[in-house]
This record gives sequence, C-alpha cells and structure tokens, in this order.
Amino acid sequence: MSTFSAPKGTYDLLPPDSAAFLAVREALAAPLRRAGYGYAETPGFEHTALFARGVGESTDIVTKEMYTLTTKGGTSLALRPEGTASVLRAALQANLHRAGGLPVKLWYSGTYYRYERPQAGRYRHFSQVGAEAIGAEDPALDAELIILAADAHRSLGLTGVRLLLNTLGDRACRPAYRAALQEFLRGLELDEETRTRIEVNPLRVLDDKRESVRRQLEGVPLLRDHLCEACKEYHERVRELLTAAGVAFTDDDRLVRGLDYYTRTTFEFVHDGLGAQSAVGGGGRYDGLSELIGGPPLPSVGWALGVDRTLLALRAEGLAPAAPAATDVYAVPLGEEARRVLFAVVTGLRRAGVAADFAFGGRGVKAAMRAANRSGARYALVAGDRDLAEGVVQLKDLASGEQRAVALDAVERELSGLLT
Ligand code: AMP
Repeated sequence: MSTFSAPKGTYDLLPPDSAAFLAVREALAAPLRRAGYGYAETPGFEHTALFARGVGESTDIVTKEMYTLTTKGGTSLALRPEGTASVLRAALQANLHRAGGLPVKLWYSGTYYRYERPQAGRYRHFSQVGAEAIGAEDPALDAELIILAADAHRSLGLTGVRLLLNTLGDRACRPAYRAALQEFLRGLELDEETRTRIEVNPLRVLDDKRESVRRQLEGVPLLRDHLCEACKEYHERVRELLTAAGVAFTDDDRLVRGLDYYTRTTFEFVHDGLGAQSAVGGGGRYDGLSELIGGPPLPSVGWALGVDRTLLALRAEGLAPAAPAATDVYAVPLGEEARRVLFAVVTGLRRAGVAADFAFGGRGVKAAMRAANRSGARYALVAGDRDLAEGVVQLKDLASGEQRAVALDAVERELSGLLT
C-alpha cells in the first residue's frame, strides 16, 4: 500500500481485468475499421472555449462538470469531457474536408473527464470509443453508424442492449416547435433552474427524470407533430435501413440532445442491467456544429460508446469478452545453465510470434510451476542439467499434466505447430 490512492471517481486498469477492458475496446472499434473509418487521436486537453461552444454553454457538462485550468501563460484549457468537438476541430484544422471526398470518417478511443457525482457506472475519468462521419447528409450514413454500433454489441454477445431512436428536426422546422414547447413549459410549476432551462435549452426539459416534472409533461407538444416533410422523409429512410439490416429500435419521442446544433437523427443505446446509469452509448446528427466552431457547413453524424458501461453490461449478462491468453508458453529453468539456454529459447519463441514468458527471479521449481499455471499458459518448458546434457527440454501440457522430451533445436517448430 502506498501513501496515495487514485483520486475519487477514477480507476486503475490492471491485470487481469484490464484484458477484458482492452477486448471490449477492440470489439467496439473493429466494425468501424472495417467500414472505412480512419483512426484519430487528439490531445487530452483543448482550449476551454472549444468545449464551451462545441458542447454548449448551457449544458451540465460545460457549466458544472468540466475540469479547467489556467496555464502559467494565462490560457484557459479544459480536460476533454467528450470527443466530438475535438475530433471535428482536428479535422477542420487539418483541412481533411478539403483533402478528399466527403464524408471524412474517423474513429477514436480514449479517456474523458467529467466532474460528476461518482456512482456505479459513472466516473470522473472514463473511456469511450467514438466515431464521426463528417460532411455528408445521407440517411444511409446515420444508419451505417447505428448498425456498426449494434454489430459491435452483437459481436460481444450482448443481447440486452436496446436502441432508442428519435429525430430532432432541423433548422426549418425546429424553431416553431421550440416556441410551442416553451409556451407549454412556461405554464408549468417548475423550480428556478428548470425555468431558466426553458429559455436556453427547452428540449432538455423533456429529458427531466424527476417524477414531479414528468407528471406535468402529459400533453406536451411533441416534435413529431411539427416535423417538416424533408425531416420526416429523412427519418423514415433511416428507420427503413435499420429495419432492413435487422437492427431493432424503439421510437422515443422524448429522447433529446438539447443543443441547437443537434439535428435530425438522435439515438441512445441502453441496457437494463445497469441500474440508473443505463446508457451504454449514444449519438446523433450535428449539422450545425462545424459552423459553430468557425468551420464551413459540414453536416455530420457520430456516436460515442462507453467502454466501462459496455463491460458492466457484459458482466450483467454473465458474459466475459474473449481475451486472448497473454502467455502460451512458460519456461521454468532448473539451474544456471538452463536459465541461459531457456532464456534464449523464450527469446526465439517470441520472435517467432509465440507468447512466451520466463520464471524470473531464481525461484524454486514449485513456485515457478505455480507461476506457470497462473499465467494461463498451455505449455511449460522445463529443463535441468540432465536434460541439457541430452540436448532436450521437457515439454509439459499444463492442462493434462503430460510431459515429454523435445530436442532443443526442435522446440520452436514443435510449439509453433501445437499452438496454431
Ligand atoms: P455522452 O457523451 O454523454 O453521450 O456519453 C456517451 C457514453 O459514454 C454514455 O452512453 C456512457 O456509456 C459513457 N459515459 C458518459 N459519461 C460517463 C461517465 N461519467 N462514466 C462512465 N461512462 C460514461
């Protein structure tokens, strides 16, 4: 135990659990790579103003949850609370939207920081895999991203993820709806903070989870009754494409992202085995964001999936992601000469692509065999002076306990054969 522990709301990833975490991250990203999304990586911090604009001044993320700092030079920076604004900023800065065809398709993965009240599935430092398709307005692109997320969940064996789907309209039809919604909400009995929200971000009130608010929302005007023809048509196409791909969804009129730059398709993946923090991912179309951060009009769509919560969902379903064994072969030398010889064998095996490890530290044979078993290796290589004199090592199958001598110069070939 050291004097220090990790800050509240954060976690360390360590073996053996870290292998499952990596496997989840890989599974969430794999479908994106197969669909033409290129890898993007941006700094862990950005100018505070990027998030203030790009996530929204009125959101909890910006007003309450952002970790900000002022540098010695007086620059205000913030730890990234999400990925979209940074990735779009990076794409614009590098002129990717001018370099080739649109859309620019990017995926990313990393840790994000929000000063939230920690609880199960909600941390102050957490991990996401995200994807953004920048610069195209096409219902097939919205459908593609949703299908890729659903395929990732399926590849992990998850069966309890539900997809909630909605449309938020666009610049043509949303203003009139927003006004109708505000008028309705102003007539309700709400606390001061919520009343302020009606003026800044009225759609978010629809998302209020408190019973006292939900009760009053009976009869609230819904966007579906105010959608323009183009938005209706677009949403219908997305729904058709999802259905054709066998991706089930539930229409959810109350699913909102309260920022003005969010348009049309919006969605969330939820899992009922997670308690209060049920969202395992979410996303949508953000046609206005590029202009908001100083770029040209670039209609775009994206999502972020939570790695932590996906792992919790797997555990809730009693599943463990298949993580490849870290070690296939474990070498146990008995004596100094054997240490030298087996160390060379292990190096050779590794260079030949076999995952191999070695009993370091000059432990006794019992402790070394225990370590071999703990490593998850399928085979142990054991050698003492007598074996070396005969030019062999003992190859032990750790599952069956069977052991046989293999000529030293045939070990690599033998193991490569056994392990393929
Ligand atoms: P958001 O950027 O808020 O739409 O979040 C996207 C996904 O990231 C959510 O669905 C969660 O799975 C995950 N996520 C967001 N905030 C947290 C958090 N504080 N702790 C763990 N996971 C989170």
